[in-house]
Amino acid sequence: MSKTALPDSFRERMLSMLGEAEGQSFLDSYERPRAYGLRINSLKVRPGSAAERDIQQRFGLEDVPWCRGGYYYDEASRPGRHPYHAAGLYYIQEPSAMSAVELLDPQPGETVLDLAAAPGGKTTQIAMRMAGKGLLISNEIHPQRAKILAENVERFGARNVVVTQASPGELSARFPLAFDRIMLDAPCSGEGMFRKDPDAIAEWSEQMVELCAARQWDILQDAIAMLKPGGRIAYSTCTFNRQENEEIITRLLAQYPELELAAEKRIWPHLHRGEGHYVALLQRKGLDGEYLPAAENPVRLSGTGPAWTKSKPHSKKRSSGESPNRSAAAAFEACSQWADHELPGLGALLGDGSPVLFGEALYWLPLSAGLSLSPRSLDGLKVPRAGLHLGEYKKGRFQPAHALAMAAAPNEAALIWTLKPGSPGLAAYLHGDILAVPEQYRGWCLVTVECGEDSFPLGWGKASGGQLKNHLPKGLRQPLS
Ligand code: SAM
Repeated sequence: MSKTALPDSFRERMLSMLGEAEGQSFLDSYERPRAYGLRINSLKVRPGSAAERDIQQRFGLEDVPWCRGGYYYDEASRPGRHPYHAAGLYYIQEPSAMSAVELLDPQPGETVLDLAAAPGGKTTQIAMRMAGKGLLISNEIHPQRAKILAENVERFGARNVVVTQASPGELSARFPLAFDRIMLDAPCSGEGMFRKDPDAIAEWSEQMVELCAARQWDILQDAIAMLKPGGRIAYSTCTFNRQENEEIITRLLAQYPELELAAEKRIWPHLHRGEGHYVALLQRKGLDGEYLPAAENPVRLSGTGPAWTKSKPHSKKRSSGESPNRSAAAAFEACSQWADHELPGLGALLGDGSPVLFGEALYWLPLSAGLSLSPRSLDGLKVPRAGLHLGEYKKGRFQPAHALAMAAAPNEAALIWTLKPGSPGLAAYLHGDILAVPEQYRGWCLVTVECGEDSFPLGWGKASGGQLKNHLPKGLRQPLS
């Protein structure tokens, strides 16, 4: 894109902000092509495995220096269209946007909030760092975007993520001082996206910058109200102006003496291989004035109801008195019986948590040391995903969800059917077609795609009489090329 397409007032501001020489070099970066990035999903692909090498070679990957597992890819290799994308083996993400979660550094077992999360780049990165342990609440205010977020979390196979669709105010009223770490990737004027998305230029104006700064300030008040003593918050934007970045942080530090700035970073398109990004990492002093790891510094919440008794996966002896939700217990019992035959590894797949039933949908709600979630604590909130979606429980029968297939490992299933990349069978499965399988195949079958020496789930099929009925959700089916 040409730098002359940039708004005049933006160009003038950047020249005065950076000085004539550096400002010109910044503006010249708009004449150069943008970088493309992806992160390999370590929840599925083992670091150092042949599968990882396969992905690296196939898409010409080169390390992004500021993100472990983050890579530049060769645009012509089109990883977004490959079946490995459908299998959730990586997430396509602008390279600079990978910097914020690296700075936040979430840990397994923590209670983490991603407050403005759709479409899910930072959420999936946080989920990787948490390695399935602890609780991640991933929130998006806009309903359609929250749906996309839930789909991306599902494809990624993340188990310990609850997706909510709420305003920051609704969440802060419900979860005061609840989170060890908070990611706030704020809605912003998007100046750093001009090269990647020329539509962002048409939407930009000086008034928009002011509007965004005011909104960011409001969202930050709610975010701080949810941060535990000793906790950390990363604030990021993809814009260059100081009003939405340094000035917001200076004002915040003046208003909250218990906060300190731990780090502040900018990524510039003329200095780095990526678009513009700003991140500030703030930490809140602990109760004794120190930063403490969350697990050693639990703060109990008021108003969220009692902690649920930890349910044992596959525990068949639960009496009605053991669970606060009898129908969830009955649904989970049906799920466990189904799993005995079809997914014997279910117990290993589920971390600490409890079954919850929303209508006919059965979820496994993750349990965290710091924040007890229960249907009661979620009551009145829109929750597109109350943890791992196990399946549907209708008239006493259990049917597994697509999300369960995506979170499972092939060795956890009783029956798998593996397809090679580029094979007609794989294209047919992704198209939604019935497949031919050996006559002796009976029941639910995990359909997987081969990569390196491993294979990775794409979805369910149900086998009988030499045929595999396709259970890939209709919205995920792909046209035959
Ligand atoms: N973190 C996301 C990722 O890595 O994929 C990108 C988030 S995007 C920069 C900012 C998000 O904030 C958008 O999804 C937008 O819908 C949401 N948003 C807009 N207005 C908001 C508000 N008033 N409060 C909270 N979030 C808002």
